[in-house]
Amino acid sequence: MVILIKSLEEIDGIGVKTAELFHKLGIFDVYDLIYYYPKRYEILKRSNMSLVADQERVVVDGIVECQPTMVSLSFKLKKVLFRIFDGRGIYHVVAFNHSYLCKQLHSGMKVIVIGKYDQMRNTIVASEVRLGELCDKVQIEAVYGTTEGLNRKIIRRAIHFSLKSGLEVEDYIPDYLISQYHFPTKLWSISQIHFPVDSVSYRKARQRLKYEELFLYLMKINYFRMCLCQDTHAIQREFDELKLNSFIETLDFSLTADQEKALEEIKDDLISDRRMNRLLQGDVGSGKTIVAFLASYINFLSGYQTALMVPTEILANQHYDNACKLFKNTDMQIAILTSSISRKNKEKILNQIGNGEIDLVIGTQSLIQEKVEYANLGLIITDEQHRFGVNQRNELKNKGSFPDILSMSATPIPRTYALTIYGDMDVSNIRVKPAGRKEVITYCKCEDDMFEVLEMMKKEIDLGHQIYVIAPSIEKGNSDELNNVLYIKEKMQIAFGKICRVEAVHGKLGNEEKNIIMKQFEDGRISILISTTVIEVGVNVPNASMIVIFQSNLFGLSTLHQLRGRVGRGTIQSYCILISKDKCERLQMLEKSNDGFFISEYDFKCRGEGDLFGVRQSGEAFFKIADIRKDFDLLVRVKSDVDDFFNCHFGDVKYQKFWDCLAKLNGLN
Ligand code: ADP
Ligand code: MG
Repeated sequence: MVILIKSLEEIDGIGVKTAELFHKLGIFDVYDLIYYYPKRYEILKRSNMSLVADQERVVVDGIVECQPTMVSLSFKLKKVLFRIFDGRGIYHVVAFNHSYLCKQLHSGMKVIVIGKYDQMRNTIVASEVRLGELCDKVQIEAVYGTTEGLNRKIIRRAIHFSLKSGLEVEDYIPDYLISQYHFPTKLWSISQIHFPVDSVSYRKARQRLKYEELFLYLMKINYFRMCLCQDTHAIQREFDELKLNSFIETLDFSLTADQEKALEEIKDDLISDRRMNRLLQGDVGSGKTIVAFLASYINFLSGYQTALMVPTEILANQHYDNACKLFKNTDMQIAILTSSISRKNKEKILNQIGNGEIDLVIGTQSLIQEKVEYANLGLIITDEQHRFGVNQRNELKNKGSFPDILSMSATPIPRTYALTIYGDMDVSNIRVKPAGRKEVITYCKCEDDMFEVLEMMKKEIDLGHQIYVIAPSIEKGNSDELNNVLYIKEKMQIAFGKICRVEAVHGKLGNEEKNIIMKQFEDGRISILISTTVIEVGVNVPNASMIVIFQSNLFGLSTLHQLRGRVGRGTIQSYCILISKDKCERLQMLEKSNDGFFISEYDFKCRGEGDLFGVRQSGEAFFKIADIRKDFDLLVRVKSDVDDFFNCHFGDVKYQKFWDCLAKLNGLN
């Protein structure tokens, strides 16, 4: 009889304690468990012991040749020793911290030993010892992310149990497509991901799951698009164009053709009765910000509030300062809302937002995290849009109608891509930068060239210019990040400490400290600023003429290009120095080109490192199995299937579960 289970504790061998360990991995019920896909696979195939090299991973099966013995190395560390005979030779086996083996194993038993072979001692240092023998077929075994106290064996067993318990999984590929592509069932596919029979089945299963994942994702995009088109709550604005134009005349530069075109497109959206969901993309320094501010001005002239959301506090401050300067001769009221302003101040601002006194509010996450209530929010602008997910944007509380959305991104996306992953958005491009800019000169250097790099830095310092130094940002919570930045700071201090001020910003600093340092860098009181990629987005210091990026081979080209955009913002000649261990061909592309669109196309063609496609992966969609970069061809196919499905079957009760699922997402609606 099949027993339907749901909670982890219903699985044989899992109690409260083990269940808690599973929670640490984000697994709370059997569904989380079966969707906990392996990190990688190991091949379990009998090693040819006559060919293995020293320290190579080996898989040996045979019989235990003598009764195991245990040696205590310390109170905690014990090792079990025995010998195994594989029909040809005898090997010593040593297993650390597997004391139970001592009782379990007896001479004559069949076992499989997996471990590293120490040729000198003819010893296998075992990572795993199992009872049984290898079959002749190659076995593929899943390897999972684990946590202390929870090894892969337990995870594997729990998944196996769940898959066999007869649970049902919802299938989100329409029946006719399943037959068209001869897709296997979903449950079978999931079980192949965990317990592949062979590589053919595995690939077939994976393709099916990828397809479904992309299918649902693109359904969501299509659905958002449709909601926006049908949205009858959109704001139709009226405003005095003369006021806009005379304001534009007060700017100390004239807009470039691309900026004008983008502004026209935004203006049309704002006037129309369709809700705007527009992506404004352009290289760093191409002048997106002014376009966004002008959009907020139009919104203000028509009587609505604007919220500008940015990913970092530094950027919020910078935009705030710029907006105050820009709008100082207008009636537009501007406020900043970040986590570091005082409680009292915050309350006052929240009040003013609620009663409509504030026209433009600039802030970080706090714009959505706190219960900010707007009197009449008409426009949401997000800078570096990929840092915010659709869901977050939905958290904005608004009295009255639904706001228009303008997203800005400095990571240009090739057109074909934009059409798929940004299919729910209209796109405006700023391709040509304002005139009069000097191109940043880029050099690729090896770590051995460090002396030369320091000399180049010295030259800039002597000219009174400033320098950014970037160390790779490693995952949050990883203390290496700190070490890297601090280590480099120490070295730079030794080299330049006598002639100028060297400071560092990194994730471990408080917001206030960070802001102070940034402010001092902006004011020119700090000459060399060392940081992780926090400055990646939006910082504007025209006197900075050089950016030195360590371990640049760890970054995608698009990220490097964006970092490079921190310099060359004024009229002085600027430089970008990419340091890597060895000469790296990929990086040399940046010596040749300064065009973000071109670079992103190249990133795309190589489908290498690029983080370009992390874009939507980070905030909005998390793909468990598909990779929108590597699976691009599949993505294009799924896109056309989804379009057909929408055109032919939208609302069809036969596919009710699809529409229910989308309604649950409830995206922007
Ligand atoms: P990004 O696209 O990276 O956000 P910014 O909006 O920060 O670029 O613009 C970079 C700099 O260029 C700013 O100092 C801005 O004032 C200036 N700028 C913007 N548009 C023009 C223009 N049409 N002519 C001259 N300078 C401009
Ligand atoms: Mg910007």
